[in-house]
Amino acid sequence: MAIAAEKTVQGLIINGKRTEASDRGTLEVYDPSSGEVLAILAKATKDDIDAAVKAAHRALESKEWGGLAPAERGRIMLRMAQRIRERAEELATLESRDNGKPLRQSRTDVQVAARYFEFYAGVADKIMGHTIPVSPGILDFTVREPIGVSAQIVPWNYPIQIGGRGVAPALAAGCTVVLKPSSEAPMTALKLGEIGLECGLPPGVLNVVPGTGSEAGTALASHPDINQLTFTGSVAVGVQVAKMAAENVVPVVMELGGKSPNVLFADAEMDLALQGVANAIFQNAGQTCSAGSRLLVERKAHDEVVDRLTARARTLKLGPGVEDPDMGPIISRRQLETIETYVAIGREEGAAVVAGGRRPDDGRLRGGNFYEPTLLDRVGSDMRVAQEEIFGPVLAIISFDDIEEAAAIANRSQYGLVAGIWTRDINKALSLASRIKSGQVYVNTYGAGGGVELPFGG
Ligand code: NAD
Repeated sequence: MAIAAEKTVQGLIINGKRTEASDRGTLEVYDPSSGEVLAILAKATKDDIDAAVKAAHRALESKEWGGLAPAERGRIMLRMAQRIRERAEELATLESRDNGKPLRQSRTDVQVAARYFEFYAGVADKIMGHTIPVSPGILDFTVREPIGVSAQIVPWNYPIQIGGRGVAPALAAGCTVVLKPSSEAPMTALKLGEIGLECGLPPGVLNVVPGTGSEAGTALASHPDINQLTFTGSVAVGVQVAKMAAENVVPVVMELGGKSPNVLFADAEMDLALQGVANAIFQNAGQTCSAGSRLLVERKAHDEVVDRLTARARTLKLGPGVEDPDMGPIISRRQLETIETYVAIGREEGAAVVAGGRRPDDGRLRGGNFYEPTLLDRVGSDMRVAQEEIFGPVLAIISFDDIEEAAAIANRSQYGLVAGIWTRDINKALSLASRIKSGQVYVNTYGAGGGVELPFGG
């Protein structure tokens, strides 16, 4: 589907106003399904980041935000949730054009974003302190106050959902935010800023500054006047960002990568399990931090599982996200090439490519960054393709013989974000779940219903 570039430059959102970049620089945003320019945005500079941080500080001190009753903050957030739902189709379509993901996935992401605002709206007026019994005659109590300006740096893979996950709790706590979306998929973050203003957020409370990691990202992470930083992205960049923040003694929340195991026993309900396993790796073309990118399969079920997964992978329909295919494109040429490099490494390491392993042979998709759903069989758990986050639709299949071996392989990873277990034996499931070192463990499912209410982290 050809989409014409919108000619006008879409401004940054700083202090409640759309502004061009201080140096008038722009950023072209590409549609990963076609390679065409989707939009042109102002590209935030170091000075723009500084202006956004200053605006956020002024808002913090203002009567309109700092002086607002917590319940009123919650009402604004509820209106934002409502407005996101009213504009759901527009937002989902934009997300699919910008990121490439199938429309039904974008629709889910938009609903999850709305739910974050709704959930945290209810928290705004329930942030309570303690009274502490020190000794008779002394009244000791704590008051929980907003920490200040929250800097938020988000990735391109779930922009509106992760934007909501960071912005909503910060607003509920009375903080103000400078949100820097990824230059690869920044469009819906600007919409969140727009919706905030429509729903009554005072100027400067939510500033949105699309830009590159090297300029806008470093300027924000190293800004001496931010009070807290939330980063979601790769480990390598996370480490750099944490160091920059540490220079100013700014506390950080880091949500980083994963190489999550899906452990499939031979006694599992196979139809359900295989659907779960395939979805865990092919959702968002594998560009998901919590993707089930390692399949640990009990050896006696190996042949059946590989045959059935191969058949499934071959039937998945690829196409532009807005056409709601089974799988959309990879975000960029660079990321596509990274995936190709990893598959080549897997081949050299001795893995067998039993499905995919190449770009699709379909002229209609040639302009986009498409890659076939790929299965790497006979993977050893120490191979690079079993250890490193590929961030594409590539499943590494590793066999095991018993629960001890499954636990050892599952834990042989520097990551530990989530894990899945598929078996009809509840004792086996709970025993293994308690041994796997990861933030969440799912049994006979993968993912936890959007996860808004649950803690998430490695
Ligand atoms: P990335 O680390 O390349 O970029 C993330 C963000 O950091 C972007 O906004 C980018 O512009 C910015 N950035 C890049 N370099 C920077 C620098 N030097 N200083 C400051 N900011 C900089 O990650 P990505 O490619 O956008 O996203 C994919 C990664 O994100 C994967 O590793 C994935 O696992 C992870 N992720 C984690 C979660 C989670 O909740 N744990 C969720 C989604 C994605």
